[in-house]
Amino acid sequence: MKALCYRGPQTIRYETVADAKLEDDGDIVLRMEAYGICGSDLHIYHGLPFPGTKTPCFSVGHEAIGEVMEVGKAVRRFRPGDRVMLSASVGCGACRNCLMGNVQACTTAAMRIYGIGRELAGCQAEAIRVPAADFNVSLIPEGISIEQAIMLTDNLPTAWFGCINAGIRPGDTVAVVGLGPIGLMAVESAFALGASRVFAVDLLAERRQIAASLGATPLEPTTALTEIHDATSGRMAHCAVEAVGLDATIQLAIGLVAKQGTISVVGAGTATSKDFPIRELLIRNLTFRAGVCSVQEHWELLIQLIQQGRLHPERFVTHSFPLNQGEEAYRMFDARTDGALKMVMTP
Ligand SMILES: [Zn+2]
Ligand SMILES: [Zn+2]
Repeated sequence: MKALCYRGPQTIRYETVADAKLEDDGDIVLRMEAYGICGSDLHIYHGLPFPGTKTPCFSVGHEAIGEVMEVGKAVRRFRPGDRVMLSASVGCGACRNCLMGNVQACTTAAMRIYGIGRELAGCQAEAIRVPAADFNVSLIPEGISIEQAIMLTDNLPTAWFGCINAGIRPGDTVAVVGLGPIGLMAVESAFALGASRVFAVDLLAERRQIAASLGATPLEPTTALTEIHDATSGRMAHCAVEAVGLDATIQLAIGLVAKQGTISVVGAGTATSKDFPIRELLIRNLTFRAGVCSVQEHWELLIQLIQQGRLHPERFVTHSFPLNQGEEAYRMFDARTDGALKMVMTP
């Protein structure tokens, strides 16, 4: 079968790889229908080493939907022909943490992700093997579009999780730093959680404009501090969601919140936290939270919010490519040319 493979920095190739097949009784094999390229796929694209990625060739991708082709003997919830969406977080589905919804702390399969090494093949392929399928995929419910389902595999749950971690309460003033798909969906999620005002910060004017169309107050990073200071009569934001993951943007987010505020980091960037301002957090009684989302935990509620028309994750999809032009999709997403925001691919 064909798949997009990492072949070294800035090199993604459409290549022939071994066919996906059942390896365990809990597995299913999916024939893919659509794929998303995630911001974290760009870290791989740039050659950021992940554990277990010594071999410089592996298939990539962790956001996709598809049709069930084969089902292992122990699978209860799915049969051939079902249309399902992946969860970017993969758990065993049987340990205490998985059963409590904390997939990221799975004791047997912790930090297994499709497409960052050899353990789980990437999903940007014609087919994929899904382990513990009863736990790691969901049927695509009635009324959920392809684009919405792609957003539910990772980006939307991550944005929502970032807002929950920020402790947003009705009436709060919220700052969102970084307006990629996750940041923009954090803006939308913050309003859905009752935020009265959302300040949206990004370097790119076109992304600020999209945030403004959602009802946020768009701000440039260089003036965000003084603008929020003036707009809140010096009180600053109740909380901030950071969706970049760089030292500078995390530092900015810390500066934008009021005393006793909360900073929630979901940006999986390259922050080193070498000069982490623990003293500033202490003096201002700030709460700092960072984490990786357990996607499955948020599906039920987010599906309802989409069906009710309160969240519209599909509007952030800007480009569609066939999988065999994946290299161009990665290049464009990385360079952010032509307003590239969320790239979706089809086989
Ligand atoms: Zn991702
Ligand atoms: Zn587990």
